[in-house]
Amino acid sequence: MKKIMIDLDETICSPAYLEEVNKYLNANYRYEDIDTYFVEDVIPLEKREEFLDYFYQNVNVYQNATIFPHAIEVIQELTSKYDVYIVSAFVDKRRIFNSSIMAKYKYEWILKHLPFIDPKKIILTSSKDMVLCDIKIDDKFGNLKGYGETKLLLDHMHNRKYSFQELEEHGIKRVYDWLQIRAILMEGEEK
Ligand SMILES: [Mg+2]
Repeated sequence: MKKIMIDLDETICSPAYLEEVNKYLNANYRYEDIDTYFVEDVIPLEKREEFLDYFYQNVNVYQNATIFPHAIEVIQELTSKYDVYIVSAFVDKRRIFNSSIMAKYKYEWILKHLPFIDPKKIILTSSKDMVLCDIKIDDKFGNLKGYGETKLLLDHMHNRKYSFQELEEHGIKRVYDWLQIRAILMEGEEK
């Protein structure tokens, strides 16, 4: 059985980071307005530390996470054909000690929403390159660059700066939704 690693944030679900940033700034940013990887980049530098203090004390962004259409059903389908791992990074370099709470939130979210995944196949790390899988699904270009025979990049504003050619050089295919992922991995549609 081939192994698949599937990223969590912005691949299976979108945690409510932007809602929290908006609440904190009393603003109304939309995802389309932000083309950087971390939405909190819109917070002025001098307010970032204060935001992180607030964030790590008061917020569980997984409580109101939005699940991408068809993600859960397609992942469940994939488990019939593949050995599926959910692999998610949780270490915030800015707040090493505080980061532990994110591992708890992520683990609980995965258990609740993906109950068909063996808990032993939930990998919370920040070294995704140590996990060697045949197939990778992620929204972060850097996580797809290395090992893997099929590497699918879920399209987002923050990764549109990578050209078709650049992706091709690394054997990465841009995909737009979970139905397309199903077509590629379950129905063998051209990669
Ligand atoms: Mg991600």
